[in-house]
Amino acid sequence: MKYWGFFVLKLLVTAVVGFVLWEAIHVIWPSSRLSYYGVSAPRFGHDLVYTLVLLLYNLVLQGLLWLNIWDQRYRCRICARRLRMPVEEGSRSHMLLFGPPHIEYICTYGHGALDVPEIPVSGRPIWKRNEDMWKELFKPRDRSK
Ligand SMILES: [Zn+2]
Repeated sequence: MKYWGFFVLKLLVTAVVGFVLWEAIHVIWPSSRLSYYGVSAPRFGHDLVYTLVLLLYNLVLQGLLWLNIWDQRYRCRICARRLRMPVEEGSRSHMLLFGPPHIEYICTYGHGALDVPEIPVSGRPIWKRNEDMWKELFKPRDRSK
């Protein structure tokens, strides 16, 4: 729930940024006074600079959306924190011996690990949930031995 809530929050921030940029473009660039029979001519497609500014605006918004999705892929599915400690596993040249190459990221709070294949055709990222992977490390030692 936290994972998707954070994604929706990022999308809302992106929408607000897009709205502010849209308003800034139209404040800086007021509509033209040209009108034919009371109907103003559309600027998009007729004014080259305005059309280029809207093209850049579109590219910026698409880039922000892509960043949101890319960032979300590498977040913990439980706590929505960034996944850390990438470990490369497998081998391209010894695939049969070590398996296909992939990178495993873990949540530093022990919620799980994300297995991302390096070869896109070999599959999609797989989330493996753990109860608490650090429990073994912080378990009190048996000193009676
Ligand atoms: Zn986590």
